[in-house]
Amino acid sequence: MSSDMKSSDPETIFEIREVGFVQSVRKFIVIAKGMPSCINGQIVEFANGILGLVMGFTEEKVQILVLGDPIGIRAGDEVYNKGRSLTLPVGNAFVGRVVDALCRPLDGLGPVASEALLPAFIVAPGVMDRQPVNQTLESGTLIIDAIIPLAKGQRQLLIGDRITGKTSVALDAMINQKGKGVICIYCCIGKPYSSLVKVLDTLREKEALDYVIVVSGVASVSTGEQYLAPYTACTLGEYFMSQGKDVLLVADDLTKHAWVYRQISLLLERAPGREAYPGDIFYLHSQMMERAGLLKEELGGGSMTFLPIVEILQGDLTGYIPTNLISMTDGQLYFSTSLFNKGVKPAIDFGLSVSRIGNKAQWPAVKGLSKSLRLDYLQYKELLQMTQLRTSGLSKEAEGRLRRGEAISQLITQDKNRPVSIEEQIIYLYSLNRGLLDNLSMEQIRQFRLNILAYVQQTKPEFCLKIRQSKELSEDLKGMLEETLAVYLKEEVK
Ligand code: ATP
Ligand code: MG
Repeated sequence: MSSDMKSSDPETIFEIREVGFVQSVRKFIVIAKGMPSCINGQIVEFANGILGLVMGFTEEKVQILVLGDPIGIRAGDEVYNKGRSLTLPVGNAFVGRVVDALCRPLDGLGPVASEALLPAFIVAPGVMDRQPVNQTLESGTLIIDAIIPLAKGQRQLLIGDRITGKTSVALDAMINQKGKGVICIYCCIGKPYSSLVKVLDTLREKEALDYVIVVSGVASVSTGEQYLAPYTACTLGEYFMSQGKDVLLVADDLTKHAWVYRQISLLLERAPGREAYPGDIFYLHSQMMERAGLLKEELGGGSMTFLPIVEILQGDLTGYIPTNLISMTDGQLYFSTSLFNKGVKPAIDFGLSVSRIGNKAQWPAVKGLSKSLRLDYLQYKELLQMTQLRTSGLSKEAEGRLRRGEAISQLITQDKNRPVSIEEQIIYLYSLNRGLLDNLSMEQIRQFRLNILAYVQQTKPEFCLKIRQSKELSEDLKGMLEETLAVYLKEEVK
C-alpha cells in the first residue's frame, strides 16, 4: 500500500491505493499480481496512465481488460488499484458531442463540463420503480408507427442481414425527434470508422446533432473500449432519464459487442459455450436491456427507449445472439434482404416483426385507422402470388383488394432520412381506409404521398395542430380532412 499527497484537491487530500505489478500481457488482457482487494468492475490504472477494468480475480491474480492501447504496458510495470468501480462523467453539456467509451470528447470542440459521476455498471431499476408505457415514440416510419408501434421506454430489436437499411431506420427515428424534447444517443460498436462518419454527416445535414450524443466504439479503438461503449451510452442515458427526460438509445450493433465479449472471454480462459460465446453473454445483454424503461412519476417519469441492432447471416434468426436478444426485447423489426433487393424500402417484413407493448401507447387516431392494415397487406401479398399463376377471371372483390394493396405498398415506401410525421400518417391512412386512393395510378399515389401534407397544412393549418393536441380523429377533424381531400383529388390529381 502507498499513499499519495494530492494538495490540489482539498476533498481528497490522501488517496490510498493498492499497488500491484503486471505479470503478463496477453493482447488486451493483463494479468496482475499483488492487488488482493480488487473485485470485478473496479478500475485500475497502469503506470502510463491507461485505465483497466477488473474482469476476474483470484487470491493471487487479477485479470484486467485494458481500456486503451495495451502496447505501452509491459510485464513488471506498476498497476494501481483505484479502489472504486468504474464511473463516468455525465451532464447536459454532453448533448451535441461525440465522445469515446470513457466519455472523453472526440470532436475537437474542447473539454465537456461534467455534472456528475455515474457508475457504468448498475443494477437496473426494479419493477416497483417503473410504470407501464403510456406515450408513443414517433419513429417517423409509417410501417412502424402504424403497425409495429414503439412506446417510450420500450426495447425494440432491429434485426436483419447486412445492408438492409437497419441503421437508416434507426437514424430516421433519431431525426424525427427534432423539437420533441427527446435526447438521442447513438452508440457505434465495432463498426468501421467510415460508417460512423456517414451517420455523423447525416445527422449534421439534418441539423439533428444538437440533441444527439454519439458514443464511439468503432472497430479501430481498443477492444476494451468497444466492450464498454454500450454501457457508457446507457450511463449517459440514465442521467437524463433520472432528470425526467426522454432518451432514445440506438446501439449499432450488438452482434459486434457479442463478438468482442467472446474474444475477451476466450482470452480470460473462460469455457466457451454455444457458438463459442461464453455462457454469461445472455446475462450481460439482458442486464443492459433492463436499463431501458419508463420510470414512475415519483421518480420523475423519465424514459429510455432502447433500439439495439443485430446483424444476422442469410436471414437466419436462430443464432445464439439473435434468439437471446429476441427473447429479451419487447419486439423486433425484421429487415429482409429479399424485400430490400426488390426495392421495398424500408425493407421491414410484417410477418416476422412484432411490437409487444407499443400499441398500448399508440395515438387513438392511428390505432383506429391502422386496424386492418397488416391483414390487408398480407392478403394482398398472398393474392399477388396467386395472380402470378392465374391472370384471368379475377373477381371484383379480388381486384379491389389488389388495388388497395398496391396503394398500401406505395404509401409505406419511404425514402431514407425523410421521416413522416404522425399527422401525415393519419392523412395517408384515412385516405386509404376511405378508398380514396383505390382509383389512382401508382404515380398519382406517389405524388399524393409527397404533396398531401403540405397541401393540408396550407389549406387547413389548424388540422395538424388539433390532431397533435387531441391525438384523436373527432367528427369535426374528419369532416375537415374529408373536405380537403375531396378538393385535392379534384383539383390536384391529373
Ligand atoms: P450495415 O449492415 O452495413 O450496417 P444497414 O443494414 O445498417 O447496413 P444501412 O446502412 O441503413 O443498412 O443502408 C444500406 C444502404 O441502403 C445505404 O446505402 C442506404 O443509403 C440505403 N437505404 C437504406 N434505407 C433506404 C431507403 N428507405 N431508401 C433508399 N435507400 C435506402
Ligand atoms: Mg448499419
